[in-house]
Amino acid sequence: MTKKHDIRIDRTLLHPWLDYKLTKLLTACEKKGIYLIITEGFRTKKYQNKLYAKGRTEPGNIVTNAKGSTYSSQHMWGIAFDIAINDNKLLYDTATLKKVATIAKSSSIGLGWGGDWKSFQDTPHFYLKKWGSTTKALKKQYGKPNNFKKTWKKTVNIKKGLVVWKHKTKLGGNYKRVAYGKKVKVMYTKDWYAKVLLSDGRAGYMNKKYLK
Ligand SMILES: [Zn+2]
Repeated sequence: MTKKHDIRIDRTLLHPWLDYKLTKLLTACEKKGIYLIITEGFRTKKYQNKLYAKGRTEPGNIVTNAKGSTYSSQHMWGIAFDIAINDNKLLYDTATLKKVATIAKSSSIGLGWGGDWKSFQDTPHFYLKKWGSTTKALKKQYGKPNNFKKTWKKTVNIKKGLVVWKHKTKLGGNYKRVAYGKKVKVMYTKDWYAKVLLSDGRAGYMNKKYLK
C-alpha cells in the first residue's frame, strides 16, 4: 500500500467545514494505516453535465443521476467529496470503504456517507449532513450554488480587528487578530461565535457580532 494520501481536488473550492472535516478524516485514516485518494470535490454545472452524459449520450457507465441544470448533486454545492483507497488492490474495496465510513461518521468527524443511502448506494461519497442527505433544502434556501458560496466567507467589521480564539470558552488564549476588512472562512455560526478555518487548517472562534 502507498503510505500517502493523494489529493486530486482543489480543496479551496470545498465548503470550509467540509475542508476541515476532510483534514480530520485524513489524519484519522492515517492512524489506522489507511491512505486515501480524494477523487472528486466541487463540480461546476458544465462538468456535472459531462458526467451525466456518461453512459447516456456518451460512452461508459452511468456515474451520476444528477443533471447539471438541476443542481441536485451535492458536489455542485461544495459539500461533498469522493474517495478511493490509495492501493491498487483495494481501490473500491467495500470492506475498506466501510472502515473509512465508520471513521468518517464518528462523532468527532460527523460526515454523512453515500453508502447509507437507500435508493442509490454511493460508497465513495461523503458529505456535510447539515442540509440533510439531498440538495433540496439548499436549493430552497439559496437557489443556486453561487448564492450559497457567498455565505462561506465573512468580513471583519470592527476597526481594531477581531481575535481568533483557540477555544469557544476563550480560555487558553487566542491564535491571532484578524485586521478590519479582512475575510475569514466560516464553517458555521452558533451561540456567540463563528467557527472559522485558518489558512493552516486549524479551527478557531470569532465573535460573530463583528463579522458581516
Ligand atoms: Zn460523490
